[in-house]
Amino acid sequence: MTPGHDDKRQWSDERDPSDPDAADQFAAHVLPTKGEPTRVVLDGRCPGCHGVMTSVHTARGPLTQAEASERIPPAKREGATPETHSYRVIATRCGCGYEHLEAPENELGCGAPIALAVRWPKGKPDDVKLFTVTASAFERREERALQETLAAQLSHVRNAAESWRTGLGGFLAVLAVVFFVEGATSFDDVASRWHWPLAVLLLASAASALYGAYRAIRAAYGTPADEYVPGRGLVWQALRNQLPATTPRHIHDYDSVGAWQDALAGQSVTDLRHAKVATVLAAMCFAAAAAVTWLAPDPGGSERLVIEARTGSVCGKVVTERGDVLVVDGSREVALRDVVSVKPVPTCPSQ
Ligand SMILES: [Zn+2]
Ligand SMILES: [Zn+2]
Repeated sequence: MTPGHDDKRQWSDERDPSDPDAADQFAAHVLPTKGEPTRVVLDGRCPGCHGVMTSVHTARGPLTQAEASERIPPAKREGATPETHSYRVIATRCGCGYEHLEAPENELGCGAPIALAVRWPKGKPDDVKLFTVTASAFERREERALQETLAAQLSHVRNAAESWRTGLGGFLAVLAVVFFVEGATSFDDVASRWHWPLAVLLLASAASALYGAYRAIRAAYGTPADEYVPGRGLVWQALRNQLPATTPRHIHDYDSVGAWQDALAGQSVTDLRHAKVATVLAAMCFAAAAAVTWLAPDPGGSERLVIEARTGSVCGKVVTERGDVLVVDGSREVALRDVVSVKPVPTCPSQ
């Protein structure tokens, strides 16, 4: 055990009145120091058993900023307010890791309650101050639950993302079938001036579904270091810059692996949100495309003309006249003087 640790101390969740101020026994780190802080790490010695301990907490606690700031004794507030500073009240217990005498089952540490208020100027998380405050047993329990969610948040988000990825994959498969198999026939069923809107809607739907699937996959599995952007050229650099700033290459930007994992979870949530919006958009475009095929007018003039001539018969849709020649569908020609009869039919006979 660490030198100075009181191995003989019995477990107790009562505070020893002779304990020195806990705030003097601890140092706090707010991480990451760049960008939005996500974690507060407490480093120090337990005020009860004097064991060395480290505990990791979320940067936001159950208390509001105003409530947290009011826990600090008025004499020590130094004019700081929730507008100028960020606050976090951490209500925890000894975390020395030693199994003290008479400790409840599965409980490590001597049980000494520790309640600290952490304060740092907004945007300057390396200028942290600590204060001893009071906290209830309920707050200590909440804090422990919060610590557990911190450990599990990444896997929770990723599990959710995986379900979305599966759902989006199915949706994409349906879209592909409709797009390639049904697409051609549905185009024939509507008047030609509706072809462009229909094509745009179907393409938009497919594009959003693809984008959504990509973001859902990224939410579920993250972005690997740089393995699929190996080059050093300008194009590769530009591509690399498009990747989120949470790949393993960026760990050092977050000051700690834990803070990087928080950022990963945050990135996963963002990816998942994009995936959801893209899915809704894809479904809406798809519904609009379906509405077009149902409601848009028929092509009209769907009947064909059979032209019987002495040289044979020709069937087609568009018949124009050029001099003394009839041109069928822009290619086949029949001399006018050879024409015997012209009659409309619903479909051309197969030739
Ligand atoms: Zn201890
Ligand atoms: Zn202790």
